[in-house]
Amino acid sequence: MNGTPIGIYGGTFDPIHFGHLRTAVEVQEGLQLNEVRFVPARIPPHRADPGASPEDRLRMLAAAVADTPRLVVDERELRRPGPSFTVDTLRTLRAEVGSRPLCLVLGTDAFLGLPTWREPETILTLAHIIVVHRPGAQLPTAGLAARWLREHQGHGRDALAEQPAGVILPYPVTALDISATAIRRLLATGQSPRFLLPHAVLTIIQERGLYRKE
Ligand code: ATP
Repeated sequence: MNGTPIGIYGGTFDPIHFGHLRTAVEVQEGLQLNEVRFVPARIPPHRADPGASPEDRLRMLAAAVADTPRLVVDERELRRPGPSFTVDTLRTLRAEVGSRPLCLVLGTDAFLGLPTWREPETILTLAHIIVVHRPGAQLPTAGLAARWLREHQGHGRDALAEQPAGVILPYPVTALDISATAIRRLLATGQSPRFLLPHAVLTIIQERGLYRKE
């Protein structure tokens, strides 16, 4: 027995919202993960600079998960200088957990982009990939992501416990059409993002005056 699988949920979380949080809870409970670790990216390699500083994004994440015991924040990418590459993060995690299964949680959009990430094949030797998608949504049918899915697809949570890495598991979650971009836009135009994200996160946004302008 390798131990209970650990979920790894990367992103900019600029800011964290209920789309991220509900997904994390459903994945943790449904796949019986020991915990889901939110890993905020320092300098996201695939996008423009985030709106909030790493410290503020971390503050918002910590507030968001404070009363949910199996959701935790992992600061390793913020402590590491330079861009945040998932493969590097997984290497450091793997060195810490031995043969315990690691499960990288990716939305369908992120999974489609995976072939363009640094060392994508290595990622699959270091972790499983849980592709969270809307119930009934189309998973890729063409391209490299589709081929990996065909070659590595697992069925059910037992597939995750049997080996430390290498399984791709599509997993339907409650569809919440919430994005950080839309939340930032609301704030920049003086509108309220209330009920799209935890109240504690909104309080920090207001106290710190975040996202006032795009
Ligand atoms: P932005 O709008 O700034 O691009 P985002 O809301 O998409 O941000 P990210 O931090 O970029 O959030 O996303 C991190 C991860 O969370 C990605 O794997 C993404 O697919 C997933 N994700 C984002 N929003 C949702 C949502 N509403 N439901 C499920 N997963 C989501």
